[in-house]
Amino acid sequence: MFDNLSDKLDKALHTLRGHGQITEINVAETTKEVRRALLDADVNFRIAKEFTNKVKEKALGQNVLTALQPGQLMVKIVKDELTELMGGETEGINLSGTPSVILMSGLQGSGKTTFSGKLANFLKTKKTKKPLLVACDVYRPAAIDQLHVVGEQIGVEVYSDRDEKNPVKIAQAGIAKAKSEGYNVVIIDTAGRLAVDTEMMNEISEIHKAIQPQETLFVVDSMTGQDAVNTAKAFNDILNFDGVILTKLDGDTRGGAAISIKSVVDKPIKFIGTGEKMEAIDVFHPSRMAERILGMGDVISLVERAQEQFDEEEARKIQKKIAKNKFGFDDFLSQIQQIKKMGNIKDLMGMIPGAGKALKGLDIDDDAFKHIEAIIHSMTPDERSNPSKLNVSRKKRIAKGSGREVQEVNQLLKQFDQMSKMMKMMQGGGGKKMMQMMGN
Ligand code: GDP
Repeated sequence: MFDNLSDKLDKALHTLRGHGQITEINVAETTKEVRRALLDADVNFRIAKEFTNKVKEKALGQNVLTALQPGQLMVKIVKDELTELMGGETEGINLSGTPSVILMSGLQGSGKTTFSGKLANFLKTKKTKKPLLVACDVYRPAAIDQLHVVGEQIGVEVYSDRDEKNPVKIAQAGIAKAKSEGYNVVIIDTAGRLAVDTEMMNEISEIHKAIQPQETLFVVDSMTGQDAVNTAKAFNDILNFDGVILTKLDGDTRGGAAISIKSVVDKPIKFIGTGEKMEAIDVFHPSRMAERILGMGDVISLVERAQEQFDEEEARKIQKKIAKNKFGFDDFLSQIQQIKKMGNIKDLMGMIPGAGKALKGLDIDDDAFKHIEAIIHSMTPDERSNPSKLNVSRKKRIAKGSGREVQEVNQLLKQFDQMSKMMKMMQGGGGKKMMQMMGN
């Protein structure tokens, strides 16, 4: 996420930190480099200019030149301004209606249908709501099918009417169904076009007027940079929407859309999409995002994600097994499943302060555990519970079955052995001792 921008900002601020003596000239140089980094990230020229002017003004106002740690003070100023630019506060969505109606808008391919599913899933699990999804794309039957697939995946009911060609009527019928059947949130997925056109704008505007949603959300692909900002403006002129959803932030985005959109349309970014899976949704926190952009990590979000996926009962079971020395490869496999549910591995690592930089260029993806899983799947249930039974011939068989080398099987066994020992140590009250050893 924003690797390039993070890199350039890091370099810009590093220069300042590296100087023995800070002068007005190198404050000016730093802000110029910050501006260049923003422009390279596809941030609107006017916004980048205003941003650096503010940073410079603050830097001089707060006496950066005489500060004890001028580099750090500059980082803080940049972080605060970046936070402000992206909206300042975290904004939630309005769920006050009975039912609450949420209208999705945006271009085709922006991720509306995927996000509709993610939001329904999020509301269902986090806010214990009972959502209904409504398919209002009357042009592409495949779009209706897609919403049904998503609904099935997350266990949320989908309303559609393939014979009705008026999307306003479908939306109204969906809301009526929600009222009579006790759904308290209605998420309406609409048709998009490849580019802004009058017909699409008229249609979404008519739906908007007819159903008067509590919340109108504009979904936009963050990879499209300045185009995303222009599209946002066109939709906002017609709909005066309530919030922006930035999708595909897991891709190689430059960051321009995330940074510019708030100040152009004056509407908050409410959620971000960070992958194709239904769990890849995050509430947008401007300050946390600013910290991530500046390579300071986002430990709070990381802990939150871990908590979300944390299964207390499972954890207790595992704890008992460790205590009885019965932690086997099946448990290891289920731990891997839990980690995978937390999201894209590279994205997760990026939340650890400093790790983003260290991982740059490394090819870590969702398949990071693929080989380990293949090896474990090639073991018999008995071998998984009793790894000590794995002799040379068994290891050879497992390597063959999983299409890996015996060496990799050995390596996995060694790691597993080390992990088991470490867990045993933590259990025996050694955890504290170990932390002390690590200097904590
Ligand atoms: P719609 O036409 O606006 O309904 O867009 P879709 O929901 O069909 O999404 C278009 C494509 O983008 C699909 O292949 C999705 O899987 C993908 N997509 C949506 N959101 C994300 C995201 O946050 N990250 C990634 N990597 N892909 C996404």
